[in-house]
Amino acid sequence: MPDTRPRRTFAVISHPDAGKSTLTEALALHARVITEAGAVHGKGDRRATVSDWMAMEKARGISITSAALQFVYRDHVVNLVDTPGHSDFSEDTYRVLSAVDSAVMLVDAGKGLEPQTLKLFKVCALRGIPVITVINKWDRPGLSALELMDMIQQQINLRPTPLTWPVGEAGDFRGVLDRRTGEFVKYTRTAGGATRAPEQRLGPHEVGEQDASVWEDAVEEHELLTLDDADHDQQRFLAGETTPVMFASAIQNFGVAQLLDLLLDLAPAPGTAAGVDGSLRGVDDDFSAFVFKVQSGMNTAHRDRLAYARVVSGTFERGMVVTHAATGRPFATKFAQAVFGRETTSVESAEPGDIIGFVNAQALRVGDTVYQGDAIEYPPVPSFAPEHFVTASAGDIGRYKQFRRGIEQLDQEGVVQVLRSDLRGDQNPVLAAVGPMQFEVVEDRMTHEFNAPIRFSRLDYQVARVTDAAGAEALAGKRGVEVLQRSDGTRLALFVDQWRAMATARDNPDVMLEALPASA
Ligand code: GDP
Repeated sequence: MPDTRPRRTFAVISHPDAGKSTLTEALALHARVITEAGAVHGKGDRRATVSDWMAMEKARGISITSAALQFVYRDHVVNLVDTPGHSDFSEDTYRVLSAVDSAVMLVDAGKGLEPQTLKLFKVCALRGIPVITVINKWDRPGLSALELMDMIQQQINLRPTPLTWPVGEAGDFRGVLDRRTGEFVKYTRTAGGATRAPEQRLGPHEVGEQDASVWEDAVEEHELLTLDDADHDQQRFLAGETTPVMFASAIQNFGVAQLLDLLLDLAPAPGTAAGVDGSLRGVDDDFSAFVFKVQSGMNTAHRDRLAYARVVSGTFERGMVVTHAATGRPFATKFAQAVFGRETTSVESAEPGDIIGFVNAQALRVGDTVYQGDAIEYPPVPSFAPEHFVTASAGDIGRYKQFRRGIEQLDQEGVVQVLRSDLRGDQNPVLAAVGPMQFEVVEDRMTHEFNAPIRFSRLDYQVARVTDAAGAEALAGKRGVEVLQRSDGTRLALFVDQWRAMATARDNPDVMLEALPASA
């Protein structure tokens, strides 16, 4: 029986150390994690499984297998799609955002908006993904709540509409004022924060004497916010103009249940999607899904390849034969997996919003669509602004053929962007990446999978801008810039830094120099 409970599919966007892992654990603790299709495990299992998911990330330093965590809350199925974001910040981190309907922006109360959060936010803004903001670590001294609201408004031009407001400043977290009901949600610490933190809901007149003065401060600020047009408006939130804000301490489980409630009450459910030709596919139409991430080498014993897809419409049932839009060929789904840590449970069925992994799906590439019924092809995942560049050469000249084949394959999979120019010649392509970890993946796969040792030499560039043929000609020979062509035909002008890019644009006003998504 397909599980047709309503879905919410989201990702957490944050900077390393903001508390994403802690929050994920806390969410899983509040909800019931699904570890196999349909099956829900007890508490003991649950913790072990979540830790496994994390341990794997930590041990490899890269999210090799983790893709999505699925849990049930208030009779909804919630999919938390992982955004690899530590040392392995890469194009994958951006691409997973094409698989979600909303994002939770996790902000460290002591640090405010940090670089990786800003980059990921830009991608959300670009894709029109509504963002819920969680100010975390309120149990520790940090910035003031109003300062943080200002930062969000000023730095990313998103209007914060707090749903809760802290009672007690950062470091003195007594609870929150629920701005919708006017109640005081009072928190009590539990030993180690290991269980659900007890919450007490008190009316404004039930606030105890010990909390009276901080409560008054909170009420005053709440009224200011109302005067300042900072109340939640669902339309504006969905339009990406505002962000509901809440205050939490993930480590103490404060605010975690509120976040889940918020996701269910406000975050959008999977909806109708448009194909490249503009045709629409509703969630109840025939099955369709698109691939947002491809990974290889998860199991060293045999070369496996997992293509992660988000179900867009219809019900997926394992074994169903679908059409691969890119080739028009049928594709059997005997080996579909529920993607959950390193567990390789097969998935029996999946609904729109769910993430499935196709095993050994050699034909599937990032951005590909698979479907049943009427043909549909979803728009490609955009490529993002690379910030790291190397030249690559065959480590063993006798294996140049394998080297070339490997580079071509990794290029097609979107593992790195491959750039070329007449000047550099075909033997020394330039590899461009969003995060340096992508080069390590290339090195590993070239060596082990293609049997073609590879050598890198770092290039000094940090900034890429899109240009055209005329731009390439105009910039040829200019100092501090080099134009190369990506395999999809796009010409990229590479600069050593932001300043050089700006100066070049200023000195050559007629030359096209456009920023790529998520570039600085
Ligand atoms: P990630 O890098 O975003 O996954 O962050 P982690 O979840 O690993 O947390 C980074 C550090 O912050 C760890 O030492 C956590 O214990 C700590 N941390 C996470 N959430 C909170 C919080 O709400 N309050 C405090 N005081 N520390 C927290």
